[in-house]
Amino acid sequence: MKNKAVNLAIVSNNTFEAKKVVNLQHYDISTALQTTLNISELIHIFSTKIQELIPHNSFVYNNETFDLEIKKGITAKNSLAYALKVEDMELGNLKIMRTRPFKNEELTLLESLLCSLIYPLQNATLYKQALSMAFTDPLTKTFNRAALEETLQREIQLAHRRSNHLSVIFLDIDHFKDINDIHGHEGGDIALASAATCIKDALRGSDVIFRYGGEEFVILLSDTNLDGAQIIAERICKRIEQHTIAYGVEILKLTASLGISSLRGNDTYDSLVKRADDAMYLAKENGRNQIGLESSAKLI
Ligand code: GH3
Ligand code: MG
Ligand code: MG
Repeated sequence: MKNKAVNLAIVSNNTFEAKKVVNLQHYDISTALQTTLNISELIHIFSTKIQELIPHNSFVYNNETFDLEIKKGITAKNSLAYALKVEDMELGNLKIMRTRPFKNEELTLLESLLCSLIYPLQNATLYKQALSMAFTDPLTKTFNRAALEETLQREIQLAHRRSNHLSVIFLDIDHFKDINDIHGHEGGDIALASAATCIKDALRGSDVIFRYGGEEFVILLSDTNLDGAQIIAERICKRIEQHTIAYGVEILKLTASLGISSLRGNDTYDSLVKRADDAMYLAKENGRNQIGLESSAKLI
């Protein structure tokens, strides 16, 4: 008879790759890991549940795809570390640490216990990817309007509570209909995606760009007052004007009109975005390819 017991994990060079669902012995851990799709919670549960079997002082988990680092406890000298992977899908790196050395039996046990973690972690990873796709505009690779509503509402609350500055830029590409008319919808799509990249390149790390709809974008500037926002807006405006887009043998050029608003005491999502939108229309009226300021705002 075939021996069904058990080590089905492939372990080489400290890469752990689960090939099959295993580990009936660790049913309790598996059950606990099925209670969440949150990666951080999963790693914490795993650490807690294996604590009795493999005592450790701390762990660190990194996931480059999501720019994620989860830590608990104080770094210690001895460690067991694994790159977690299933079916060619990278699931991050987990290291557990403690002051006294780990024994070989513990290493073998950990490898077997990791089997319980790997599939819940894959589910959590897929879920996180799906969430991020639901908030991303596929053409411009910027966040979408649903993401804007959620993020800006949260940022407004935070800024009110902490008395921080917060500014918004509303950007609309000038005469974009002409681009479509002259170069076709495909040319328009390429120009739009390229413009979004150009805007992203002009932003600071903390600024976030969202596609509001069509050829309109909103840029969220945390901790930035009106003067600061104006500097960023001027930079974006110039960059777009200087930007060239190759489309076949043709070179496309764009300009944009931008409006700025800065958070006031009684602002809501709607009022803040509307003032930036109104300011953008002022820029259109004044001749396009320029910045409009919100009404009754004064520059120093
Ligand atoms: P204005 O300077 O006043 O903003 O002129 P405009 O032509 O940019 O403004 P209008 O709102 O009249 O036209 C926007 C155009 O953007 C029309 C629409 O077909 C085009 N557009 C919106 N979304 C997309 C898209 O995803 N791809 C392409 N190719 N075109 C788009
Ligand atoms: Mg428009
Ligand atoms: Mg436009």
